[in-house]
Parts: sequence; structure tokens; C-alpha cells
Amino acid sequence: MKNAWRLLGIGAVLPLLFVSCASVAASTYDGSFPRVVNVCVLNDKEEPASEKIIRHITGNVFREYEERIAVRFVAAAFVASEVDLDIWPPLGVGLEAKDACPKDTEVRMIFSNRRMLFIGEDGKEGELAGLSHDYYGLLVIFNVGGRVFLEDKGGNPALETSLKHEIAHIFGLEHTKDINSFLYKAGNKSQGRWTDEILEQLLKARNKKWH
Ligand SMILES: [Zn+2]
Repeated sequence: MKNAWRLLGIGAVLPLLFVSCASVAASTYDGSFPRVVNVCVLNDKEEPASEKIIRHITGNVFREYEERIAVRFVAAAFVASEVDLDIWPPLGVGLEAKDACPKDTEVRMIFSNRRMLFIGEDGKEGELAGLSHDYYGLLVIFNVGGRVFLEDKGGNPALETSLKHEIAHIFGLEHTKDINSFLYKAGNKSQGRWTDEILEQLLKARNKKWH
């Protein structure tokens, strides 16, 4: 019996060691347990993005979110998406995407190779890098294949800046006027950085729930 207790004692120490290592990595967070968010990754069936690229950019961006705000996004499911991306805001899309995903996933991230062009207020043609909806915890990244080699003004991969930008939106954050931040309105014209302003807001919003 004594041995059993001793073993239990060791078992209890190990997780504590692990947690203290994790909190060192999360230098901008207060050291409590990371929040795990299961992500349903959807690949547009009509114009699918390369799965390799999706895994690469989600891996990098998820790692940054964990280090910065201790939210650990886990790609828990990969599904083909038949969601019609021409309908936005996604009154239907939000539910459609949710239905296509396992019940234990909290947010939905759709990747597509399609280009989403629009005519801006100035009459000029623009291209949407992504869209998001903070009620449903839904985001879309467009033109994945066409933008894989592009960078933002800070030299960061444009797709990763777009994903960081849209994830911040699903936490309810609005655009910033700070061109250093990836949450500048045109994220890919920014320096793509994590700024104190954005970190402060994300840390406040990190427990947000989606529908
Ligand atoms: Zn935006």
C-alpha cells in the first residue's frame, strides 16, 4: 500500500513539471493551464487547397497562439467542405459548416483555393484574403495555392498572417489602425506582428465560446 502511494506521489509531480515548462513557453500568459480548442479543418470540395500547406500554416499559427495566449488549437478533424462560400455573412454557412463537423469541435476553419474578388468603395478591384464570423467561430482562408509564396510587409508568410488575423476576429477583436499588427485592416500590408494592443485584447477574450 505504501508503495502505491509513493507511485501516486510521483505521478502527481510529473504533470506539475510539465505545466511549469509549458508556462515558460507561454511568456505572455499568466501561467495557468492552456485552453484546448478543437478545430474542424474543412477543405473546400470545389477548389481544394493543398492539405500539406494547410497542415503547415495551421501548425505554425496554432503554435504561436499557444505561446502567446495559451490557447492550444488542435486540428481534431479534417473534412471535405461543400459549403457555398459565395454566401456571406454565413447565416446558413455557419450552421452548414457546423453540421459537417464532429460535435466535439468548437471552431471551423475552411481553406479554399478560390479567389474572392470584390470591387471596393474606390471602384478598384480587391481580393479578400479571408473572412470570419465570431458568433459561429468560423473562418475562411481564400486563394491558399495562389498566395503560398507571398509575404506580408514584415516578411512573414501571407497565409499565416491571414490566419492569425481571422483567428483574432473569431475572438471578437476588431481591426486596429496600427500597421505593425496582423490585425491591421489589410493584414498582408502590415508588418504582421503580435503587438501589446492585440495581446491584451486576446488575453481578455481567450475564453470566448462559440455557437
Ligand atoms: Zn479583418
